[in-house]
Amino acid sequence: MTGTGAPPARPTWIEVDPAAVAHNVSVLRAHVAPAPLWAVVKADGYGHGAATVARAALDAGAEGLAVALVEEAEELRAAGIDAPVMLLSEPPPGGADRLVAAAVEPTAYSIEVVDAVADAVTAAGRGPWPVHLKVDTGMHRVGATPEVAVRVGRAVADHPDLRLASVWTHLAVADEPASDFTAEQLRRFDAACAELAAAGVEVPLRHAANSAGAIAHPAARLDRVRAGIAVYGIAPSPELAGLVDLRPALRLVSRVSHVKTVAAGGAISYGQRYQVTRDTTVATVPVGYADGVRRSLAAAGAEVLIGGRRLPIAGTVTMDQITVDCGPDAPVARGDEVVLLGRQGDEEVTAEEWAGLLGTIGYEVTCGLGRRVPRVVVADRPGWP
Ligand SMILES: *Cc1c(COP(=O)(O)O)cnc(C)c1O
Repeated sequence: MTGTGAPPARPTWIEVDPAAVAHNVSVLRAHVAPAPLWAVVKADGYGHGAATVARAALDAGAEGLAVALVEEAEELRAAGIDAPVMLLSEPPPGGADRLVAAAVEPTAYSIEVVDAVADAVTAAGRGPWPVHLKVDTGMHRVGATPEVAVRVGRAVADHPDLRLASVWTHLAVADEPASDFTAEQLRRFDAACAELAAAGVEVPLRHAANSAGAIAHPAARLDRVRAGIAVYGIAPSPELAGLVDLRPALRLVSRVSHVKTVAAGGAISYGQRYQVTRDTTVATVPVGYADGVRRSLAAAGAEVLIGGRRLPIAGTVTMDQITVDCGPDAPVARGDEVVLLGRQGDEEVTAEEWAGLLGTIGYEVTCGLGRRVPRVVVADRPGWP
């Protein structure tokens, strides 16, 4: 989004519906009870707008928030959100002071980071500070091996300005319910927690579940779930679709900017990949791959909604515009609403549908929506644009 403060001139926007977020959080909380839910709002709330999602999730009973970057936590604080915020990886070198200033609860899996956080807390005079110990049980991205976890847990527990807030792990295949590796990770996690306890480190609270774990693996729910994608109304994987009643929280919307008839024999857009075989009405829509409408969607057969009908993207997606084949003599006019993602009338295009066409996951679809598209809270929409 461009930063002049002027209202957007281009009629292309992303509607974010806090009521859908609240619905998803309520349904998920009921599903995982008595475990509390922390809403994961990294990557600007998976492209939805972190502050909007955070407020709606907290209103619906989320206990806290989780982010990937210190700067993402700072943004939440700048938006006036004072709920607990957990960082899902260690802060980078030099990040400890900012983390304390923003009242963020760090994850740690090394002695270096425990020392850096302790120094920042001591300097600020703000101990004892909550620290979350991450154990690697088989994802092999970040986390302490079980042996290192005992040393890190001990360092946290022994420091007067720190307190061990939780011990946690992350699941690699929770979205593949047929795999038995989730059960294996939970066994390793249990063993690691038992080792900590045997070493005299009290484990106050344990968590492991992402959305897939929360939805499909009761044994993973433990004392907290960290739900991201499901909060946005998107299933973690096709196998887990429909297990809980989720509502997509976002619509990508534009308006027809130009309409013309293209005669049989013509071809549309770069590369002339879309051949017109009968005279047809073509609508141009001011949204393109710079906005996250991926170029490969056209060849994959993606459709948009105009007037409640599914219509194909006709020809190559360009940076700022797409063209849509509306059919012969179609009643389409400049200014008509075009829905790229979301519901219009009885039809709906979901992030999962795009993910299927693109060979990716719904996460990448909403995270990939362009920064220059304004996010509009749906309740504020009347009269806009
Ligand atoms: C992103 C993330 C989550 C949330 O995952 P979803 O699949 O979106 O629910 C949970 N925990 C960690 C460590 C993460 O990085």
